[in-house]
Amino acid sequence: MAPRRDCPKCGASMTTGFILDADQNGGKKVSRWIEGAPDKRWYGLQVRGKPQFDIQSYRCNRCGYLENYAPE
Ligand SMILES: [Zn+2]
Repeated sequence: MAPRRDCPKCGASMTTGFILDADQNGGKKVSRWIEGAPDKRWYGLQVRGKPQFDIQSYRCNRCGYLENYAPE
């Protein structure tokens, strides 16, 4: 369990969550951080072989500010 965080904008408590990556076919995944610039190909983005980490997101319970982390 991640430690409790306080909002850097207003100081209220934050809740742990994640950012949903949904495609047109109903597939649901956790959004990931990918190293480097987007490499666009005819089939979409090339991400194979690049460092990538699931994004953890914290949302402020008062102002809605989001803070993202992508731990190893
Ligand atoms: Zn806040």
